Amino acid sequence: MIRFVDVSFSYGERKVFEGINLEIKKGEWVALVGANGSGKSTLVKLLNAILIPTEGHVLIDGLDTRDEGALWEIRRRVGVVFQNPDTQIVASIVEDDIAFGPENLGLDPTEIRQRVDKVLEVLDLVPFRSSPTYALSGGQKQKLAIAGALAMKPEYLVLDEPTSMLDPPSRREINRILNYLYSKGDLTIIYSTHNPEEIVLARRVIALVNGKIAFDGTPLEFFSNPDMVWEFGIRLPIITHLCYRLRKRGLALTFPVFDPEELIDELWRLKSGM
Ligand code: ADP
Repeated sequence: MIRFVDVSFSYGERKVFEGINLEIKKGEWVALVGANGSGKSTLVKLLNAILIPTEGHVLIDGLDTRDEGALWEIRRRVGVVFQNPDTQIVASIVEDDIAFGPENLGLDPTEIRQRVDKVLEVLDLVPFRSSPTYALSGGQKQKLAIAGALAMKPEYLVLDEPTSMLDPPSRREINRILNYLYSKGDLTIIYSTHNPEEIVLARRVIALVNGKIAFDGTPLEFFSNPDMVWEFGIRLPIITHLCYRLRKRGLALTFPVFDPEELIDELWRLKSGM
């Protein structure tokens, strides 16, 4: 479990968090949302001890990020993928880049090889294993960053707007892979995003406004309140927006709906007068 206990954080004079309390349990998929400057990246950096709270404690499975002796174990448990894939690559060849983390853990070469093989397969990067990292596309680089994090066998995978620099097909591919990883049941995902379709993938939405938790609930509860969603600077998912517009025109549709099939079912229900 991840726990924020009375966490305050400031960059010098700039106070970002004041007395935040938060628990994220194993197995959750949390979408972290909020306007630019609301504190999402700072929260992510507090999670893996890149930043240390000014006051209070961040506990990762009971390990305090203030405890320097726990730093390696915290960074192994919390894998972080940032927005810009170029800043996360450390080696010039794909498989060496993935092996970098496990090598630093001091694992034996057979174990490292097995982990590299496994994540190359999961991320569909096998054909690129010996490729130079500079030759990869943005989407492939971001998959490489995820592969590197997964090779550490993390408990928590934290993604800070990982698809915001990617084209729609790469974005879908990343999300397909995350869905697959989550469906296997042993990963907790914390996904910072502005994208409504990505928010819907989560089981829980936490919205930050000026460093305060302004909403904490399910995606269904979140999108049930479009005015609030817009205030957070987030769009409705396209199908949800269509449903919203049709309701405005007087159709008695259930709201919100996320899935095109669901909307079609709803329209059939109305048409047949059920
Ligand atoms: P988000 O990820 O939601 O855009 P951030 O966590 O990056 O928000 O930023 C939260 C606040 O902290 C913003 O007001 C931002 O300007 C400020 N901030 C972020 N990084 C720094 C820094 N290194 N030094 C000073 N202020 C910072």
